[in-house]
Amino acid sequence: MPLEERVGRIAAWAELAEDEAKALGGAMGLSLTRADQMIENVVGLYSLPLGIAVNFVVNGRDVLAPMVVEEPSVVAGASFAAKLARAGGGFRATATAPEMIGQLQVLDVTDPWSARLDLLATRDELLSLANESDPVIVELGGGARDLEARVIEYTPAGPMLVVHLIFDCRDAMGANAVNTACESLAPRIEQITGGRVLLRILSNLADRRLARARCTVPVEALAYGDFAGEQVAQGIIEAYALAAADPYRAATHNKGIMNGVDPIVIATGNDWRAVEAGAHAYAARSGRYTSLSTWARDAEGNLAGTLEMPLAVGTVGGATRVHPTAQVALKILGARTARELAETIVSVGLAQNLAALRALATEGIQRGHMRLHARQVAVAAGAAGDEVTQVVERMVAEGRVRPDRAETILAEMRNEQL
Ligand code: NAD
Repeated sequence: MPLEERVGRIAAWAELAEDEAKALGGAMGLSLTRADQMIENVVGLYSLPLGIAVNFVVNGRDVLAPMVVEEPSVVAGASFAAKLARAGGGFRATATAPEMIGQLQVLDVTDPWSARLDLLATRDELLSLANESDPVIVELGGGARDLEARVIEYTPAGPMLVVHLIFDCRDAMGANAVNTACESLAPRIEQITGGRVLLRILSNLADRRLARARCTVPVEALAYGDFAGEQVAQGIIEAYALAAADPYRAATHNKGIMNGVDPIVIATGNDWRAVEAGAHAYAARSGRYTSLSTWARDAEGNLAGTLEMPLAVGTVGGATRVHPTAQVALKILGARTARELAETIVSVGLAQNLAALRALATEGIQRGHMRLHARQVAVAAGAAGDEVTQVVERMVAEGRVRPDRAETILAEMRNEQL
């Protein structure tokens, strides 16, 4: 479809108002005035493409996934893999309660083990105190859930006590909510322990706020060109095995998952550094960095994939309600809660992983990718309008998708026209 037609179809599908459709199409959206209210020292705006990944079924519902990303072939990869998963019923996803962990670091405690027990004995009082900091979240059914206290005996600054406040953030990512609650607890915790509270901040290792997705792909659906479905399924499992066993591969494998995750996190105005930090810390939770996903054959012989990762994302708070296009992205997704949003994001992460593994285990990542990448190479070399397609066609036909080749082809084309 031509671009305008695509925008029209999405606007109709998501029942976007005129302003919302304009925000999507770039005619409106984030203004300089609004941007100036978002961060400091604003001097401009920086745009990125927003694409829509198609073919997703998440928990039986058709979903269109808005993705903000600068890299070619990410949206195509997700859409393709979603089609494969669709053949097996789509993605089944769940998310745990939106519980974040806030940390308080207590120093200069004479006997941290006894102080730990004193803290646990005042748990209920401390939870009530934390709840006073955010009546809105409490009213919505969230708030302080639990208190944990750990003694870390060996640190470069000696032994210390670390208190964890478990806080249900409902539909917010919750960093500000949790930080405020932690700060409100600090004076009372100093009183109880006789120590000195230094850090009062959430942990991005949000391992109580996990999102999980699974999909099964019938092996026949994996057949491709000269590759039999069986061969592709086996290749995907073997490719995953290296990521499971080797951090050098796991880093790239997980980067491929984040290719699906980050673009939706960004599109919805969420904090992608927080999500990245959580994902990689979770991947290293056993002490050795490993794959966030798994791939195996199920009892019926289908290819079965799973992905589990922390996903601290919100549908309120932060920039979600401030950036006009983020609001449109949320509307297109149709996610009513932070949990539903996390369920879609984790599904797209799993799809992206499948797309990469399938390409890597068959013809290699470059053939499909370079064809799509060629457009960026042509534009970077200075091609404009119809020249882009012509330069792309020639580079792809020659099998040489390189900046220097694009420049030469462009110069030749322009010379021919003189
Ligand atoms: P926020 O403070 O903007 O919004 C959260 C507030 O919205 C809640 O405290 C609540 O009072 C209110 N609210 C209204 N409706 C709600 C609902 N349905 N569910 C939950 N709350 C509702 O944002 P936040 O989510 O607390 O914090 C996110 C921001 O914090 C992001 O901008 C992030 O970048 C930033 N941040 C991140 C870190 C980190 O990740 N380490 C640290 C500091 C700040």
